[in-house]
Amino acid sequence: MRTRNPSIRLIFLSTFATEDISFACDYSGTWSNQLVQRKSPLRIHSTQQMLINDYRPRYRPARANARIIEMDKRLNMTGLTRAELVKFIVDIGEPAYRSRQIFAALQHRRQQNFDDISDLPKALRERLRETATASTLTIESRYLSEDGTRRLLMKTHDGFPVETVFIPEERRDTICFSSQSGCPLQCTFCLTAQLGLLRSLTAGEIVEQIIIALNDVYGIGEKPLRGTNLVGMGAGEPFLNFDSLLKAIRIMADPQGLFIVPHRVTVSTAGVVPRIRELVSIPDRPNLAISLGAPTNEMRDVLMPINKKWPLEELLMACKEFEQTLKAGERFTFEYVMLDSVNDSDEQARQLANLLNRHELHAKVNLIPHNPAEPLPYQPSPAARVEMFRSILESKGVHGFVRRPRGRDIFAACGQLAAIRQNASVHAG
Ligand code: SAH
Repeated sequence: MRTRNPSIRLIFLSTFATEDISFACDYSGTWSNQLVQRKSPLRIHSTQQMLINDYRPRYRPARANARIIEMDKRLNMTGLTRAELVKFIVDIGEPAYRSRQIFAALQHRRQQNFDDISDLPKALRERLRETATASTLTIESRYLSEDGTRRLLMKTHDGFPVETVFIPEERRDTICFSSQSGCPLQCTFCLTAQLGLLRSLTAGEIVEQIIIALNDVYGIGEKPLRGTNLVGMGAGEPFLNFDSLLKAIRIMADPQGLFIVPHRVTVSTAGVVPRIRELVSIPDRPNLAISLGAPTNEMRDVLMPINKKWPLEELLMACKEFEQTLKAGERFTFEYVMLDSVNDSDEQARQLANLLNRHELHAKVNLIPHNPAEPLPYQPSPAARVEMFRSILESKGVHGFVRRPRGRDIFAACGQLAAIRQNASVHAG
């Protein structure tokens, strides 16, 4: 059904779309973005899917800017493990202890500019500047929610949007990072899906997000007031960028650096089964969260098309394998986005509980009321419905927990990251 013929596309548009919207995501003229707004959520799913495929926003560098954007080919030092940094420094003929100084400056004091590393000789700083960098992401804008959540909209050196969300809580801060710019999955309830995959992020770009978020809130080199938890629930499918993700997690765990241990990191996947299986035997692994979204294959195929590749039985068998290897201190959870009148009925609660019980899975289910955003054709389930759903799960022995949304007003909540620019950019600092 996919077509490259623009005239045929127009016919589909006039038949199924309520209106064309252009919502401008203008990265200093670098990007142009068009989305198609769709009408009724479930009636026209197959057609809708086709529309998403056909009308995924097309991000391309504007011609004028293509000349201006020069790929920064310098090595991103933020993406090096301590061992790699030693090798780099020794290879350029410097003593190994310099690498320890650099690692502490970049990863512990969170410096992003070689010139600020005052314990290095000036000549070495200059040498580093020529071949390497410690700062590749630039903040485009920042938004502050009424609940204290902060959304940073950044761009990569080659112009792709990256979003990171800082969520302050009483006893800890949570930073929600992105693993990809955009996302290749096509979950119909998620705004990021509408961007399509722009590109996967490097390990350095993942680590940098955390450094930038902490610096933005506390200042460079300042100790955070609370412990930092990380969640890989921003834009992208982390398990489709597995190597960079694991490398970033290893770098951040280093006691000489950020020292955010894997037990403080939770990575969410829509269900990339081979990577879940791989995680079973990885020693320093993060906590795992699995996005379920629907209790049956029939519905999950529609809401989360990745289900067609790895259906529920296969996914839950891999989950069981993972659950059996859980060690003390590790956490394993399910997530279930609650869409009003779509996946939130009593019957669906029973189906979900039966499904998990059948697979003898004991992990709790986080119920996430949908975070609405134009043009997503869904609404959050009302609080009373969520509570009823939760109590049905409980009555069948499945532990349910209702997640409070954070940062909805600034498009910072789950599934709302789509490089949205708002008028009220806040220069908190
Ligand atoms: N791709 C990964 C991680 C990003 S999404 C995954 O699918 O798990 C992180 C979580 O947000 C997932 O559980 C997803 O189901 C949920 N989510 C996506 N869009 C949402 C929305 N609009 N409202 C509420 N939750 C949403």
